[in-house]
Amino acid sequence: MALSIDTEGTDKPICPYCGYVHRDAYEWRHDEDDVDCDSCGATFEYAREVEVTYSTFVIDEAELKRRAEVKARQDAQMKEFLLRLAEQRAEQAQS
Ligand SMILES: [Zn+2]
Repeated sequence: MALSIDTEGTDKPICPYCGYVHRDAYEWRHDEDDVDCDSCGATFEYAREVEVTYSTFVIDEAELKRRAEVKARQDAQMKEFLLRLAEQRAEQAQS
């Protein structure tokens, strides 16, 4: 029989059967799984929910320039690679 205890969105997983608070849940390997309660032994299902947050930072002028150069270099390399790949395929199609 499940108790009518609030077990959703809590800091620590609470057994929905007996209300036991599992303080070692950081050791649980998966983000979703079935576990046996450390107190009453009943099997319950849990989902580890991660809240997404964002941080933003200013990029200084020199770093911005450096990143643009790296990206341009990578784009050029990719373009060259795709061109070579297309040439190889065309040669293979002819033979
Ligand atoms: Zn329990």
